[in-house]
Amino acid sequence: MTASYGWAGKVLWVDLTSGKITKVPTSDFEIEKYIGGVGLNSRIFWELGCPKVDAFHPDSPLILSVGPLTGTSGPFSRATISAIAPQCYPDELFTYSGFGGKFPSELKYAGYDGIVVVGKAEKPVYLSILDDEVEIKDARNLWGFDTFETQQRLMDSHPKASVLTIGPAGENLSRMAIIINETSGAAGQGGYGAVMGSKNLKAIVTRGTGTVKIARPDDFMKLLSQRKEAGEWVAGPRQLWGRYPQKSEKVKVQMAKDYLKGFTGCYACPYQCHGVYDIPGIGKGAQLCNDNWYQYSSGNDAMGESIKGMWEGNILSQKLGINNFELVGVMLFFYRTIKETGILTKEDFGLSSIPAVERRKEPEFGGTQAHHEFLEELLGGIADGTSPLSQGVARAAEQFGDRALELYKSIFPAWGHRSHHIRGVGEALHWATDSRDPFNSCHDYVSGFGIHPEVAEWFGVPGGYLEGESEGKHQNIYQGIERETVWVQNQQCLRNSLLICEFASSPELFFHPPEMDVRIFESQLLSAITGMDMNADELWKTGERIWNLRRSIMVLRENRHKNDDTLYPDMFKEVIKVHSPELLPEPLDAAQWETTRDSYYELRGWNVDTGRPTRSKLEELGMKDVADKLQSAEKLD
Ligand code: SF4
Repeated sequence: MTASYGWAGKVLWVDLTSGKITKVPTSDFEIEKYIGGVGLNSRIFWELGCPKVDAFHPDSPLILSVGPLTGTSGPFSRATISAIAPQCYPDELFTYSGFGGKFPSELKYAGYDGIVVVGKAEKPVYLSILDDEVEIKDARNLWGFDTFETQQRLMDSHPKASVLTIGPAGENLSRMAIIINETSGAAGQGGYGAVMGSKNLKAIVTRGTGTVKIARPDDFMKLLSQRKEAGEWVAGPRQLWGRYPQKSEKVKVQMAKDYLKGFTGCYACPYQCHGVYDIPGIGKGAQLCNDNWYQYSSGNDAMGESIKGMWEGNILSQKLGINNFELVGVMLFFYRTIKETGILTKEDFGLSSIPAVERRKEPEFGGTQAHHEFLEELLGGIADGTSPLSQGVARAAEQFGDRALELYKSIFPAWGHRSHHIRGVGEALHWATDSRDPFNSCHDYVSGFGIHPEVAEWFGVPGGYLEGESEGKHQNIYQGIERETVWVQNQQCLRNSLLICEFASSPELFFHPPEMDVRIFESQLLSAITGMDMNADELWKTGERIWNLRRSIMVLRENRHKNDDTLYPDMFKEVIKVHSPELLPEPLDAAQWETTRDSYYELRGWNVDTGRPTRSKLEELGMKDVADKLQSAEKLD
């Protein structure tokens, strides 16, 4: 048993209905087979019987886990939250979201690999975890405050602690609600802020004074040095983009010159990738890529130069606790339903004006005051539940009728998550077979394999853009592309279980064969920390096991079937341009898509007729108990 190294050894189990707090050994969840993060969360959910309740039911668990790497030195201070997701549409699916900052490491130092919250408190509470001292505390005096104010108050009363909180959007059960930490790292996707809100759980505060025991510290330090020497880990282009994500070059330069205050990010990560900016009159905060949702979705330099409008969009959505990815979808929905088709009006959305729709010809779309009024009206309505959009774009579109729903689907092609990157067949296959926007792996398709054919070749998968073309012109490859999807999905499971930041765990960063293949490197890292001696093939099998467990949950709880592994039908008919660049360079070919999807099931060792795991595959992965449970539910083929 090696669980004394790497893992903290305990999972905190909190029942808010009874007020009972217990500490369960992490080893109860076959931790060496499921590692942590999404793997551990999925295993816990499986042990709970995959409850078929809705997201806001008290029996719907909120599960948060870190991994064996968390709390050591490197880009590992990450955590995964899993729960039944109110954001998913049309059905609420069990899925996950990740976040970083200091919280994951503090939780580990406090002595926990995870937290499971069930039940519902009678009145608003927060959870205080200070090493062994774990308490459910009264939060009535915090309810109603925005996330910044809540964080400040809790950090004042719990010095050096890290705080995860919800804002008014979560309290009012908006399906767009996030859970956010004090450095603006958020579990954004899933609507999990509303799951916390439904439990009357305003925040979780944690502070730990322990350490992480490393089995072979010299090996660990050597691996870190190797990676540092390879360079990209601490200065990757993605991190740079995170610091200065503005679309307009002019705005980027001005933001950096006038308002940049420094950088922040996850604890002990050598590259702090969030830019911290302070604009007088609007506020100080951090940003990473999609925090610029208002500028991105408004889409041109005229809007981009309204720096204050752009920044207010970021600060206000963070304060109210609203998902920025979905907000991009909101804006695109406005354009399509109001501007392009005229089937809805701004009044249908309860708005007096939408600058980016009706004031496009004016400098900066009407200027700072126009943006301020719009943002207050839109985001305030989402957060307090008065806007039809507070339940997410999908459910708003459903209310507005068939035409609106059709338009919605072109923006949100699968499972209620807005399109992020779908620029090739491999990514489309990933979207269709997952329960969420697989965004933290979509970069692998684009920059991991997409722009480095030699990297794809090394990892044994198809890949590459059309010769001479830029990003966004990914080839529509069908032949063999399932290999790439399976590769990325297994790797996604591993990085979200170990936990290691996506920015530091991508194939193109590890193209230093043979010693720096990402699987070899990460298996060595895990072995050095835990002492469990897992080689690259065994680690890979672990990734496959976690994906199979996730799929088994979909089958058991959600009755997932091949027929559900679909995309919006128009993706087979036309090029859908909702963002720049378009979703796919050309429509999918239906016949080739079917063949590729079947090849994917075959490669996975699943039943090609149903798209479900088979007993032989599950037993090969050491998951006989999973096969038995599926069989007793008559869902094993
Ligand atoms: S690169 Fe950024 S997101 Fe990743 S671990 Fe470092 S600070 Fe966190």
